[in-house]
Amino acid sequence: MSPRLVLATRNAHKLREVGTILGETLGPLGAVIVGADEVGGPDVAETGVTFKDNALLKARALANHSGLPAVADDSGLCVEVLGGAPGVFSARWAGVHGDDAANLELLLAQLQDVPMAHRGAWFECAAALALPGGETAVATGRLTGTLTTAPRGVGGFGYDPILVPTGGARTCAELSAEEKNAISHRGRAFRSLAPKVAAALTPTR
Ligand code: IMP
Repeated sequence: MSPRLVLATRNAHKLREVGTILGETLGPLGAVIVGADEVGGPDVAETGVTFKDNALLKARALANHSGLPAVADDSGLCVEVLGGAPGVFSARWAGVHGDDAANLELLLAQLQDVPMAHRGAWFECAAALALPGGETAVATGRLTGTLTTAPRGVGGFGYDPILVPTGGARTCAELSAEEKNAISHRGRAFRSLAPKVAAALTPTR
């Protein structure tokens, strides 16, 4: 049977995205990535106050539950003039978890008097690997940029329509999935975790 890696998400979009990012690692090993639903994974409350804490919480719970190597990520948008907020509260900034439109609208309102020169921000991601035996590893990635004053583009999700990556002219929502994966915080974090994932999936003799 193919070695299996389980990702702590019920979101099909994220499963595809991380599957693509880790494709070059999983492919040569004949390994497959499956979502938490496939192993009846638990719902884990994100009670940590850092991306790393939350990613580790989710990966550990899933590895313990499934007996498989598990990966998880936690990510968000950090705004310089807000001292790094919304940060781990990105998904629930306007109060309701996952209301992307309300979150983005509130953030733009909070920043309405902030001039372009001070609209620096970054997406951050922590990617964690946990093994059933208890071993863990974490890697992080960042995508820095500037926040626009109005949303632009229809791709992506969350705060993508208002972040223009450094050196670019388009928002993340105006990039293709491939263009975003190549530079994204999630792409960087999972690519730097990849050697540990490969080791975890390689049978020992
Ligand atoms: P999670 O790590 O999937 O829980 O994401 C937390 C929240 O951060 C999301 O709901 C988005 O609001 C925001 N976020 C994380 N990554 C991205 C991204 O790549 N683009 C836009 N928003 C993001």
